[in-house]
Amino acid sequence: MPRRRMIYEGKAKILYEGPDPDTIVQYFKDDATAFNAAKKAVIDGKGVLNNRMSEHFMTGLNLIGVPTHFIKRLNMREQLVRKVEVIPLEVVVRNIAAGSMSKRLGIEEGTNLPRPIIEFYYKDDNLNDPLVTEEHAIAFGWASQQDLDEMISLALRVNDFMCGVMYGIGVKLVDFKIEIGRIFEGDFQRLVVADEISPDSCRLWDIETGKKLDKDVFRQDLGDLADVYAELATRLGVMPKKSSTTGPKLVD
Ligand code: UDP
Repeated sequence: MPRRRMIYEGKAKILYEGPDPDTIVQYFKDDATAFNAAKKAVIDGKGVLNNRMSEHFMTGLNLIGVPTHFIKRLNMREQLVRKVEVIPLEVVVRNIAAGSMSKRLGIEEGTNLPRPIIEFYYKDDNLNDPLVTEEHAIAFGWASQQDLDEMISLALRVNDFMCGVMYGIGVKLVDFKIEIGRIFEGDFQRLVVADEISPDSCRLWDIETGKKLDKDVFRQDLGDLADVYAELATRLGVMPKKSSTTGPKLVD
């Protein structure tokens, strides 16, 4: 069988042509990057864990009627998704102050926000993905007012779902980023959640201990990222608990 044709290689994933013209295969790499790829590493097993966790979240969203591009997981590192036209805006939802918002507005990290706050960032690595307003998005044709209203409503539904899932495993959803794409059906377009939802794009803090269970562990050199992702995947029930033995066991 000929190797799939590559469409695009990003920082953490590779996209290949899918079996049908309206599908794509997403391959999850082990590469970790931070600070717009100024910091890089290969984290053994990260791609496998993110493929599993993203499948878990996207399947849950599809089930409760929040449309996503996800069709099915194909193997350890690949999933089949609908081809979409990605809107060039990263949508960030924040429940607790952290990261760039804390720095920009001087709000102490960990402060509960009075309501979820949504922000849009223009996807452009050369500009470092700047924060933009709805006015910019409309004026420059990145999204219409109707798109933006739908994106906000989708983002809030994802937030409700993800907060619930995380609370169930003893984790606070501090903030996260999603990407949204257009699917065209005849003359109509639908917006769906695209890309991935994984600890690479969320801030997750243990409710009891405050331990970080997301990519900040890599950004801030707080420990072994693969161990932290494996702990999260185990709590989510998408990976069996680590065995305490290192090798095969003799049976009586
Ligand atoms: N985020 C992301 N990709 C980006 C920028 C941010 O996935 O290119 C996520 C990040 O992991 C966090 C949330 O969006 O969960 C908010 O990030 P923030 O604006 O605080 O930026 P950071 O402090 O990560 O630079």
